[in-house]
Amino acid sequence: MAKIVCVLYDDPVSGYPSKYARDDLPQLDGYPDGQSLPTPKAIDFQPGTLLGSVSGELGLRKYLEAQGHQLVVTSSKDGAGSVLERELHDAEIIISQPFWPAYMTAERIAKAPRLKMIVTAGIGSDHTDLQAAMERGVTVAEVTYCNSNSVAEHVVMMTLSLVRNYIESYNWVIKGGWNIADCVARSYDLEGMNVGTVAAGRIGLRVLRLLKPFGVKLHYMDRHRLPESVEKELNVTHHGSLESLTKVCDVVTLNCPLHPETENMINARTLAGFKRGAYLINTARGKLCDRDAIAAALESGQLAGYAGDVWFPQPAPADHPWRKMPHHGMTPHISGTSLSAQARYAAGTREILECYFEGRPIRNEYLIVQDGKLAGVGAHSYSAGNATKGSEEAARFKQ
Ligand code: NDP
Repeated sequence: MAKIVCVLYDDPVSGYPSKYARDDLPQLDGYPDGQSLPTPKAIDFQPGTLLGSVSGELGLRKYLEAQGHQLVVTSSKDGAGSVLERELHDAEIIISQPFWPAYMTAERIAKAPRLKMIVTAGIGSDHTDLQAAMERGVTVAEVTYCNSNSVAEHVVMMTLSLVRNYIESYNWVIKGGWNIADCVARSYDLEGMNVGTVAAGRIGLRVLRLLKPFGVKLHYMDRHRLPESVEKELNVTHHGSLESLTKVCDVVTLNCPLHPETENMINARTLAGFKRGAYLINTARGKLCDRDAIAAALESGQLAGYAGDVWFPQPAPADHPWRKMPHHGMTPHISGTSLSAQARYAAGTREILECYFEGRPIRNEYLIVQDGKLAGVGAHSYSAGNATKGSEEAARFKQ
């Protein structure tokens, strides 16, 4: 019998929903690159229901308990007195979502001698100390592609919201005003602008494809070039450096993983190389950006807007400067946890657990660390070394 500890975000303040805004989810046939959707043998949840919060339990309880396993579900994850910390001593599997990450530091991994696997129900395992996982032989897996398109849609929404000054205009309506000049004094058309993505992986490429019909000029910066046919199809310009991209772009969107090479890539020095009045969208990871440099660039007007849904740490404290800085369009970390995405990553988590318990190989697409080294998609996306000083830093922050 294994103990599985699943760290999920809290239920809605109004309680776990008894009804939903819509009755069904569209059926998807697969992901754009041909990867198949999750293939668990069965699911015990209704797609379209809230699965990522504590009462949703990722739809796992029936399956796990039927096999004789113990499932502990909690939102209490930070600090020495947390439920997560209390349950570590005999946990075999830890599951959490990047939206409400269980920071799995080297110290916590050391406190869990029976730990065999850490699953990210979503994408992005930078909240786990991958180096420590490698050294302990702990498998790390995530549900690659489950929410890439969800995030790309969020990027498009935020781009339009900032450029067209949607949020301020909406607020005038709420305040009872009809202040057209106040609304439009910062409102532009996206058409004709130069839009660039830092990284053109699953999310970045989808963003390029979604934005193309707006009549924008597309740019990207990535370690590897896209196939020539895709560059031609999208008429997208490749840049060899961040500076080359930011010099020409009106909108910059960050879509690369957090690792030592990308941490703090947007800082006071690199922001000075942006076009004045550029918009920056970051749905990748908060630590890609220097927190205070972003706030200062909005104050000075170097950036016309900043939006995203990723912060550091998470949840962000009430006094985090990104809550109050001017011209921002921040949301909590939600882009990858729409009800649609939840159905996919709950099924993907179930698939990973079925493979683990039945001794079947976990798909390469889902593997980050296995047998003491980076594996599968992780070997491509991460570099060895502590991919996240953040896990330790966040733990210290909470104490
Ligand atoms: P992919 O692995 O498909 O793409 C990542 C891309 O980043 C790859 O093309 C990679 O290039 C590139 N890259 C890595 N390092 C650099 C660098 N130093 N400079 C430029 N490009 C770089 O990942 P996804 O598109 O699926 O996801 C990207 C990130 O988005 C995730 O790592 C995660 O942090 C975040 N995310 C956020 C979510 C949310 O809810 N807000 C949900 C899902 C993901 P190469 O192929 O050459 O290595």
